Amino acid sequence: MALSTDLAIIGAGPQALTLVTHLLQKKVNLRSRFVVIDPAGAWLCQWHHQFAALEIPNLRSPAVHHPDPNPHALRTFAEGRPDELLPPYALPTTGLFRDFCQSVLDRWDLANRVMAGTVQHLDLGQGLGRPSFLLGLADGRQIRARRVVLAHGGGRPQLPAWARQIPQTYPSHRLRHSSQIDLRGLSLTGERILIVGSGLTAGHLALGAVKRGATVILMARRQFYAKLFDADPGWLGPKYLKGFQAEPSWQQRWQMIQQARNGGSLTPAMWLHLRRLERQGKISFYEQCEVQQAEWKGDAWQVHCKTGADHNCIAHLPLDRLWLATGSQLDITHWPLLANVQATYPAEVVNGLPVLDYHLRWPGCNLFVMGGAAALQLGPVARNLFGGRLASDRIVQALVKPSRGIIPAVLPA
Ligand SMILES: Cc1cc2nc3c(=O)[nH]c(=O)nc-3n(C[C@H](O)[C@H](O)[C@H](O)COP(=O)(O)OP(=O)(O)OC[C@H]3O[C@@H](n4cnc5c(N)ncnc54)[C@H](O)[C@@H]3O)c2cc1C
Repeated sequence: MALSTDLAIIGAGPQALTLVTHLLQKKVNLRSRFVVIDPAGAWLCQWHHQFAALEIPNLRSPAVHHPDPNPHALRTFAEGRPDELLPPYALPTTGLFRDFCQSVLDRWDLANRVMAGTVQHLDLGQGLGRPSFLLGLADGRQIRARRVVLAHGGGRPQLPAWARQIPQTYPSHRLRHSSQIDLRGLSLTGERILIVGSGLTAGHLALGAVKRGATVILMARRQFYAKLFDADPGWLGPKYLKGFQAEPSWQQRWQMIQQARNGGSLTPAMWLHLRRLERQGKISFYEQCEVQQAEWKGDAWQVHCKTGADHNCIAHLPLDRLWLATGSQLDITHWPLLANVQATYPAEVVNGLPVLDYHLRWPGCNLFVMGGAAALQLGPVARNLFGGRLASDRIVQALVKPSRGIIPAVLPA
């Protein structure tokens, strides 16, 4: 028999945790009316894993960004640990943020609120005479929920075409997307590694590889550049968001998101660090350069580039590993979880992103979407911690007053 609940939240990352704390702050008696489902059976496992696997020492976002509704909570928590808010923008260290999040879980009594499971199907149906969702878990269990929040991230590794075309005849650990790399336990002495990508992840991987005795070639189609944050801080408030939200064209909004994020960037601190290692001969930068073809030749890669503008080609250099720090791609038309919802309540999709209502609700039903997939409504920071706060403000309004702004469920004829 299916477990029944008012609200099912899929995923237990920072976005889901932000939603839950905001929800409880608004209406504490909702505590017994939701379940959170995540394969790990615990909060923030993916977050902690990515910071540990890439040995990231601190967050890129300042201390006001975190899952608690009180924006000052992290600063207050850090009062005894001032060295762990890095100047000048008070970036929390990874350890401080981890301990703070644990304190949030303790304070809101949420530690044991995650059910271990992977949601595989999301079906629409009736329960107790009302429209509801039926969630099918990978192990066969079912959950019936009146309302669902999708907070499962949902990005897929973005692989360049040349990487997809390589025949699978190489040892798999020799070609990896950044999301598959765990620096811990790797021994790379004497190896030469090509890292593709211009973002902060490429920087973390380069530092980790050099620390383990490798030399690194950092290659990007563009010029490497440094900026403090993922997107200009104007996107965290009305300065840019007002114009974004006034823009009636979804296509135009999508363009604005791309422009604001402007691909991957390093932070100034990372840039300095990498330059220092370049001077020591441990890293070389290949800018405005793109791989055309990579071939596994017995015990190393041979890589041909498209352009050799201002540097020698690397075809003559045997490479031990190729690491792709090429980001992730978000396209909800590839989300199996949404197949039935999309078939029953077709929503407009613009370059992979759904057009949701103000409360981030899928048109026609009580499914809410958080994270990068809500970017057409929230702007370029949707996927970040701050995006979790923006999303929670809007979703919670609808959850505590379920009748507000509900779009009538109209089934296609
Ligand atoms: C290396 C790195 C560093 C970052 N640093 C920052 C930063 O400093 N500041 C900032 O603001 N942002 C940062 N971000 C961006 C963003 O905040 C994080 O990616 C964040 O983890 C996104 O939170 P999330 O809850 O959407 O997704 P996730 O953290 O990925 O959580 C989603 C959860 O859903 C679960 N899930 C997936 N599918 C299912 C399913 N079918 N059923 C049930 N559960 C499922 C996953 O297992 C996971 O636990 C960083 C991103 C990366 C990759």
